Amino acid sequence: MEKRIYLDNAATTYVSGEVLNEMLPCYNTIFGNSSSLHTFGRDAMSIVDRAKDRIAKAINAEKPYEIYFTSGGTEANNWALKGLARANKEKGNHIITSQIEHDSVLESCKTLEKEGFEITYLPVDSKGLVSITDLIHYIKKETILVSIMAVNNELGTIQNIKTISNIVHENNIIFHTDAVQAMGALNIDVQDMEIDAMSMSAHKIYGPKGIGALYVKNGIKIESLIDGGNQERGKRGGTTNVPAIAGFGKAMEIATRDLVINQQKLKAIRNYFLDKVFEKIPFVQLNGHPQQKIQGTVNLSFELIEGESILMLLDLAGIAVSTGSACTSGSTKPSHVLKAIGLSDEFAQGSIRFSFGKSISKEEVDYVIEKLVEVVSKLREISPLTKAGRAKK
Ligand SMILES: *Cc1c(COP(=O)(O)O)cnc(C)c1O
Repeated sequence: MEKRIYLDNAATTYVSGEVLNEMLPCYNTIFGNSSSLHTFGRDAMSIVDRAKDRIAKAINAEKPYEIYFTSGGTEANNWALKGLARANKEKGNHIITSQIEHDSVLESCKTLEKEGFEITYLPVDSKGLVSITDLIHYIKKETILVSIMAVNNELGTIQNIKTISNIVHENNIIFHTDAVQAMGALNIDVQDMEIDAMSMSAHKIYGPKGIGALYVKNGIKIESLIDGGNQERGKRGGTTNVPAIAGFGKAMEIATRDLVINQQKLKAIRNYFLDKVFEKIPFVQLNGHPQQKIQGTVNLSFELIEGESILMLLDLAGIAVSTGSACTSGSTKPSHVLKAIGLSDEFAQGSIRFSFGKSISKEEVDYVIEKLVEVVSKLREISPLTKAGRAKK
């Protein structure tokens, strides 16, 4: 059998067996509409309620009804930014976010700018951390909302969420965080971390695609997202996707249950991988924070060659990775995240994200290293940059 190794778990994960088992009966046995009053409906509703309980417990939300299901992280982020801004605009029109947020936050901010909101995009340091001094500096009396992601999807860098939320609340401002990459990697306690609103997604934690949630603390004002139904307390109408919700609830429960053991395993894998890479490949740089990061995500820049070429050749060897630089319509534009941490275009173009999943084995990592060494040296041999005589050894 041909080898296939998946190292793109920050993009999406497979659905775990335990999750799938939870979902399957909801397609043909417990198939009722959760809004119906009969037994079929009530059975479906109890599945939805159980999922809400599980998610609330996983993030220590005070009440299960603070969890609102959405189609995923993108929708949750859109709703959080626009819904919180619009519902609180009588208090001011200023929002603070960071330059390294997911596009769903950044593009929502662009929409809000057109509506008259003023947005401050905080810079980050070379490791991807938002500076607390900068945050304090930019808060003003018109500031109504601060949205800073818990964990960056390209670098794995973890922000100082508790410190940030403390400062935000001292100034009576609402705090939202995109925690999509934090689930299963970090202990998230919305009460202890003083989070007012938080975006989550199932398919990054071995759950199904197309389902996520926005946590909104009781008492925080947010506009409705979808009119025309009593689902999600009337704020996000539409017949509930019971199988996906069941799967999401189970995935969250497992992510919390197995957090420590998964992270221990990933830490060992990541350290082993990095040691081998630095031992065998010259001119490599680790991007992001070396310590304050989640274990599964590793972003490396390979000098003198293009990330896209590495990706393509690794794919031929059956290994799936991701480039740090998104390829937009033929032209390779470095990612906004790598730019924000100050990487030169050359380093940004040579960047690859390896995101390890919980079932990775040491043998697989050995194979990846073997292939990576081959691919990098092959590409460097033919690189015009190498020919120009820069730093080749
Ligand atoms: C994947 C991701 C999203 C989007 O979530 P979807 O469920 O795919 O819409 C948002 N933010 C971060 C940080 C992500 O990694």
